[in-house]
Amino acid sequence: MAFVKNDVEIKNEIKELLFDKHVEYIANHGNDKNDFEYCMTEFLRMSGIYWGVTALDIMNQLDKIDRLSIIEFIKQCQCPITGGISPCIGHDPHILYTLSAVQILCIYDCLNEVNVKAIAKYVNSLQQPDGSFFGDKWGEVDTRFSFCAVAILALIDKMESINIEKAVNFVMSCSNSDGGFGSKPNAESHAGLIYCCVGFLSITDQLHRLDCEKLAWWLCERQLPSGGLNGRPEKLPDVCYSWWVLASLTIMGRLHWINSEKLEQFILSCQDNETGGFSDRTGNLPDIFHTLFGLGALSLLGGNNNLKKINPTFCMPEYVIERCNIKPKSIVI
Ligand SMILES: [Zn+2]
Repeated sequence: MAFVKNDVEIKNEIKELLFDKHVEYIANHGNDKNDFEYCMTEFLRMSGIYWGVTALDIMNQLDKIDRLSIIEFIKQCQCPITGGISPCIGHDPHILYTLSAVQILCIYDCLNEVNVKAIAKYVNSLQQPDGSFFGDKWGEVDTRFSFCAVAILALIDKMESINIEKAVNFVMSCSNSDGGFGSKPNAESHAGLIYCCVGFLSITDQLHRLDCEKLAWWLCERQLPSGGLNGRPEKLPDVCYSWWVLASLTIMGRLHWINSEKLEQFILSCQDNETGGFSDRTGNLPDIFHTLFGLGALSLLGGNNNLKKINPTFCMPEYVIERCNIKPKSIVI
């Protein structure tokens, strides 16, 4: 029996970055408030704004959207009781949207517009006795939330608000024998969660606890003949995994372990040459999430001079991380 591999065939090859089309795609995103997609994505509005703002900043086009109305929206999303931030006005706060909001405010250099102390208190309230974090009051535990917690606290300079040692021990308890990490102890390794755990260890200065050789091999094996990367064995390639895998390898100093040229070709093939924007894989409809991660991965690959440098740990422009005076660790080999 032949060994069947899940992959895609790149049919319409696009060689160039469609820069102006992407700027237009993001700037117009969400402009039409009656748009079906706009109404359906209310539950992740805050993250949608973060994806758009970051993508535009990476392209040096931040002035294409209205800074003041975004800041006003964020202020209205901070819960006066818990201090957490919700995805949209009238929704419940969650650690994921709190991170998105803090990232946007750092890019706009205006953290003082919200109650930062209350955010630190909110993050503290979500830490559990075993060091893990709830995402919100409903009590789901996931290593993604551990990453969100330390990323938020690093950005607002309130790292002392949680028990870091316990937080690190919990994340390490989610590592697997293949070198990867899952969402909780004994859960399967997954590239998105590996990014969260490697990013967590980068922020908390604990990268020495990684089995880098083993983990980097697992990550390299995510590259398929099309050049694209998948998130787990036997899955299809997807542009967002270009980010999760590449950022993890970059933090571990092993970006050169994958074939950059083929990956770049795969990412460029996922551009929509009519509307602009990137889709998950070639031929599908574009969305703002894959547009940020496509551009972010291209920035990490470094071949495009029109893109600003992106920080692999925070998925934010490098100059913003420097301005915040944060020094996430990476391995140099
Ligand atoms: Zn995806």
